[in-house]
Amino acid sequence: MKDVAYIALGSNLGQREVFLAQARGAIAALARTRVLGQTEVEETAPIGPIAQGQFLNQMIAIETELSPSELLTELHRIEAKAGRVRRTRWGPRTLDLDIVLFEHQSVHEQELTVPHPELSNRDFWLRELATLRSSRVE
Ligand code: ATP
Ligand code: MG
Ligand code: MG
Repeated sequence: MKDVAYIALGSNLGQREVFLAQARGAIAALARTRVLGQTEVEETAPIGPIAQGQFLNQMIAIETELSPSELLTELHRIEAKAGRVRRTRWGPRTLDLDIVLFEHQSVHEQELTVPHPELSNRDFWLRELATLRSSRVE
């Protein structure tokens, strides 16, 4: 089914702007998907117990016929292309692509929870989501 989804982009290692730009390009190139809008890039403090550099964050709204799990597979592929090494959760990373929300689908599986369980705890996600929703032209 066709649905609207929101993807959070984050980078706090290496050429952060470049990794976000590559991710935007790769998301725009996904099959059965078109980009509806994107927020400005903003800098935020890292989350969790590990001391690490500041993040650049951005959120993108897409319309897609990919299922949530198909989208997650694609996002992992894009992360891997950016040289992401999966060590510890919340550790520093070249690129993190999280599915924040699908407007009309939810998922509660081992590998994937949508809406993202941390959505209500991350003020900048809530703010970015509101911005994208208010600027969307149906
Ligand atoms: P957080 O999810 O709290 O932001 P993180 O992004 O650092 O932490 P990752 O190491 O990127 O965590 O992902 C760990 C696993 O989380 C992924 O392999 C994926 O299977 C799972 N996951 C569950 N729900 C989601 C989601 N909504 N978006 C992305 N990954 C998810
Ligand atoms: Mg994350
Ligand atoms: Mg992640």
